[in-house]
Amino acid sequence: MKVGILGGGQLGRMLLQAAANYVVETYVLENDPHCPAAHLCTHFKKGDIRDYDTVYSFGKGLDAITIEIESVNIEALEKLASEGVQVYPSPAAIRIIKNKVTQKEFYRDNEIPTSEFVITENIAALEVHTHLYPAVHKIGEGGYDGKGVQILENQTDYSKGFDALAVLERKVKIKKEISMIVAMNRSGDMVIYPPAEMVVDPVLNLLDYQLSPAILPEKITWKAEAIAMKLVKKLNSPGLFAVELFIDEKDEVLVNETAPRVHNSGHHTIEANYCSQYDMLWRIIMDYPMGNTDPILPSAIVNIVGAEGFAGKAVYAGLEEVLKIDNVFVHLYGKNETKPGRKMGHVTILHKDYQDLTHKANKIKHLLRVIS
Ligand code: ADP
Repeated sequence: MKVGILGGGQLGRMLLQAAANYVVETYVLENDPHCPAAHLCTHFKKGDIRDYDTVYSFGKGLDAITIEIESVNIEALEKLASEGVQVYPSPAAIRIIKNKVTQKEFYRDNEIPTSEFVITENIAALEVHTHLYPAVHKIGEGGYDGKGVQILENQTDYSKGFDALAVLERKVKIKKEISMIVAMNRSGDMVIYPPAEMVVDPVLNLLDYQLSPAILPEKITWKAEAIAMKLVKKLNSPGLFAVELFIDEKDEVLVNETAPRVHNSGHHTIEANYCSQYDMLWRIIMDYPMGNTDPILPSAIVNIVGAEGFAGKAVYAGLEEVLKIDNVFVHLYGKNETKPGRKMGHVTILHKDYQDLTHKANKIKHLLRVIS
C-alpha cells in the first residue's frame, strides 16, 4: 500500500515509526527537508501542503492519504477522494474542524455540549455581546501556538480581540481539562482511549504534564466518552480524532476543540496502551481490525521544550540522568535547532502508582533542559 502524510513534524515521525511494522510504502509532503519525519519515510517530497497543485500531484497515484496538521489544501483532498484515493479523515471533517467558527457551529447544530458563543466578524462586535464576559476570543483560522486565543476578562480588554472572523465564547470555570482519543474505521466501528488529563502548575500556570487515565469519577468519564463518541459519529468520517474537553465547577462536560488526527495528548499510548494511537491509525488506513485501547499501566507525559534564553543547536542537558530512571521513555524529535518554548521531544513515564508518576514527572521537568 502507498500512503501519503501531509506534514512532516513529530506526529508524522511517530506515525512513521509505527508504519515500520507493516507492509506500507510511505510518502511525506513537507516544505522543510530536515523536518522530523523526513528520513523515516520511504519517499520524501518537498512542497507546500497548503497548495492545491502540490497536494494534488503528491496524492495522485497513492492508495491513501492522511494528515498530521489541519492547515492543508482541502480542495485537493476532495479531488483526490473523488478519484478514489482514501482520505483519513474525510475532507469534509477536516473542513469543519479547520476553522474554529465552523467547528463551534457544528457542535451547536449537533447538540454537542460546548461553551456558549457567538460568531464575531470584527473587533467592534466585541462590545455588543457583553453577556458573555469574561470571555475567550478565538480567531477562526490562522491561529497557532496559542496566538489565536485571547482571554477578555472585561470591557477594557476589547482591544486585545481579533479584527477578523472569530468565535467569542464564555470563559469556562475549568476544574479539569481532559482529552479523549476516538478512532473510527471505514465500517463505522469506534474505539475510545481512556481520558488523559492535563495537570497545570498552579503557580506558573504552564501546561505541566499529562496523566492517563485521568483521575475522574466514573460518571464524568462516561459522560465525556458519550460526548466524544457522539461527536465523531456526527463527523461521520473514518480516522482518529482527539477531543479536548473541559470539566467545569458543576461537573458539566464541555467540548473545547477537536483535532482530526493523531495528537500530542496521545503520545503516551506508544508505551502505555496495548495499541498506540499511531498503530490504530495504520490499522484503520489498512482496513485491519482495530486494536485494544486499554492501558497497560498508568502513565505521565512530560514535554521537552526549548529553555528560555537559548536558541541554536540543541543540547539535551540532563538526558543521561533521566535515562537512568526506571520505566521512563525518552522521545527526541530530531529537531536540530532549539528556541524558547519549541517542542523538542517528550518523556513518557509508566507506573502503577500516580504518586510515583507525579514525583518522576516533576523530577524530569527539572533535570532535563534543552539548551544550546
Ligand atoms: P489552541 O487551538 O491554541 O490550543 P484552545 O482553544 O485549545 O486553543 O485554547 C487554549 C487554552 O485556552 C485551553 O487549553 C484552555 O486552557 C483555555 N481556554 C480555551 N477556551 C476556553 C474557555 N472557553 N474558557 C476557559 N478557558 C479556555
